[in-house]
Amino acid sequence: MTPAAVREAVAHGHRVTVQKGAGAGAGFSDGAYTAAGAAVADTAAEIFATADMIVKVKEPQPVECKMLREGQVLFTYLHLAPDPDQARLLQDSGCTAIAYETVTDARGGLPLLAPMSEVAGRMAIQVGAVSLQKANGGLGMLLGGVPGVAPARVTVIGGGVVGTHAARMAIGLGADVTVLDRSLDRLRFLDDAFGPALKTRYATLDATEDLVFGADLVIGAVLIPGAAAPKLIRKDQLKQMKPGSVIVDVAIDQGGCFETSHATTHADPTYIVDDVVHYCVANMPGAVSRTSTLALGNATLPFTLALADKGWRQALADDRHLLNGLNIHAGKITYAAVADALGGPY
Ligand code: NAD
Repeated sequence: MTPAAVREAVAHGHRVTVQKGAGAGAGFSDGAYTAAGAAVADTAAEIFATADMIVKVKEPQPVECKMLREGQVLFTYLHLAPDPDQARLLQDSGCTAIAYETVTDARGGLPLLAPMSEVAGRMAIQVGAVSLQKANGGLGMLLGGVPGVAPARVTVIGGGVVGTHAARMAIGLGADVTVLDRSLDRLRFLDDAFGPALKTRYATLDATEDLVFGADLVIGAVLIPGAAAPKLIRKDQLKQMKPGSVIVDVAIDQGGCFETSHATTHADPTYIVDDVVHYCVANMPGAVSRTSTLALGNATLPFTLALADKGWRQALADDRHLLNGLNIHAGKITYAAVADALGGPY
């Protein structure tokens, strides 16, 4: 929680305790939390021992799962499907675990995942621009060109949340931008939103190859819900891309949409295959932790307050979208896709 969110919760009459140093990585001091009305605890154990609800960002560590108990609510990213050990520990604890990533909204979106896609999409153009610099293995090209010199050609594959925000940043820097998508509705939306500053193409195999091979910078932003990212460019096709061109494969957390993509870290974010620079960091928002924390905090706050104000039972009864976030309750897995993935009862 941000200090601003703490202040809201305190204004609603709740007591908030923040673990010492919890906000440091996002630039929030303990003093900022106390000024907002929170108490500061030296250890997480003190909080787990007394709190009715625990709000985090990442999944609980095994030692934390063991401190959870029946009647306690945990509200955080869980990503349980590939994590049977965490699921079992949460079931054993008897707690009520509500996962950010499965909360829905009225338009069929995932409102607590969207802020991370917004961050990653916008950041993709920043890191792509730096990767295009000569010293980083790139073409030595400025995205926006200069008067008398053509701008770089940017191809964005997938015009969802990541793709829309990448396109917006690339257009803002003056690049020549095309978005590919398999959804005509998305292309219509993008055409309406950006007008002639953006080109849109239906993502046939032909169009995808054509626009990837001709691009200076490619952003991989496809998602097929519940599935691994489709491999749109195979290893043997990479040679047809321009030497020094750059791929930012944002979809790497779902396996990536290039066959040559493998996950990298912020410490060593890029590698080169066939003269094409690959940037494939699986947790891009972590690099801009302050912006990401503020963005996620805005999205989670209404749900945090509803849970605190009404109690979990009434809050979930009143809001089927928040109810979709319920993954584990009283020892049982309560989210079908997680139960399917873990082969357990639901
Ligand atoms: P989204 O569902 O909003 O958009 C995905 C889009 O891809 C949709 O519009 C869909 O129609 C389109 N699509 C699907 N198959 C396609 C194809 N073959 N060709 C062209 N378009 C296709 O998803 P999103 O929120 O934009 O997320 C995109 C990806 O970015 C996901 O894999 C997500 O997990 C990932 N992501 C990664 C990070 C990171 O740090 N690396 C951060 C946030 C999101």
